[in-house]
Amino acid sequence: MLEKLKDIEHAGLEALQAVQDEAALEAWRVTHLGRSSDLMVVFSGLGGLSKEERPVVGQRANEVKNALEAAFADKAGGLRQAALKKSLEVEQLDVTLPGRKIPAGRLHPETQTMRELYHVFGEMGFQVYRSREVENDEFNFQLLNFPVGHPARDMQDTYFIEGGGSSDNPIILRTHTSPGQIRAMRWLSAMAPDNPPPVRIILPGMCYRFEQVTNRHETQFDQLEGLAIGPGITFSDLKGTLADFARRMFGQNTRTRFRASYFPFTEPSAEFDVECFICGGKGCAVCKGTGWLEIGGCGMVHPVVLKNGGYDPERYTGFAFGLGPQRMAMLRHHIDDIRYFWQNDLRFLEQF
Ligand SMILES: [Zn+2]
Repeated sequence: MLEKLKDIEHAGLEALQAVQDEAALEAWRVTHLGRSSDLMVVFSGLGGLSKEERPVVGQRANEVKNALEAAFADKAGGLRQAALKKSLEVEQLDVTLPGRKIPAGRLHPETQTMRELYHVFGEMGFQVYRSREVENDEFNFQLLNFPVGHPARDMQDTYFIEGGGSSDNPIILRTHTSPGQIRAMRWLSAMAPDNPPPVRIILPGMCYRFEQVTNRHETQFDQLEGLAIGPGITFSDLKGTLADFARRMFGQNTRTRFRASYFPFTEPSAEFDVECFICGGKGCAVCKGTGWLEIGGCGMVHPVVLKNGGYDPERYTGFAFGLGPQRMAMLRHHIDDIRYFWQNDLRFLEQF
């Protein structure tokens, strides 16, 4: 019997050496330490042994059982270590691998142009004044010298907000940034009604018109308007400011020209052109051979507008100008269709 136990121990330990994974280890446990294993058969047969044999065989059987269990625990620990090591090797994080690149966003071409304009006018002493996009007829038209029924209103078809305002002063989406002129002037003149401070602001932002959408016209577009008011401001100041702006924006040698025009809120009024920065004035497809590009409108602030803003037209004069940032971006980047700006097509936006 003792010989048999020696064989059991030997066979068990030998078989354990061949075990390579958890499944084989469990199979080994069932075979060598399980209820019907040879070792357990020895235990259950102890009762049939003689009084002398029983303690000797029993003790030896316990020794074999302990040895096999210890070997089993040892092996299990070894397998766990090996598995851990393997998983560490397989799932190893290689910090030298280049990471996945996060695509960089960029500013919309319109935003880029706007920021460039802020920068240029900021250097020239203008502050940004933001005004509301939802306006009423009074501020968008009447106070700017467009009385009800004025023919110039036809140039600016409007979106009306239902249920707001009154029949003679409906709520509308602003058709230009100019109502901000009145709001800014009133805000400033309210600080010192008898002696209002000078004004030097730019008013950027979205405007809305009920337009037939074409490659040149959209129902929403940005404007950037400038306003300067103070004692003794003349048309020369306007020309000098816009000429300086053109040089800062388009290059030191850029020439400018003014053509007489009409706007209800300025008098006199002018269209403002810069020498074509694509061909240098020689004439090309972008300037349609003229050598000049239309950039915006301007003029001396109408006395009625000054008065509506709280500035005495006897003491104060001023000038205003309006630019189309999108048109500027279109000219610069040879964009031939204004509708690209708000379509959010990445194939367009990624080019800037
Ligand atoms: Zn040109």
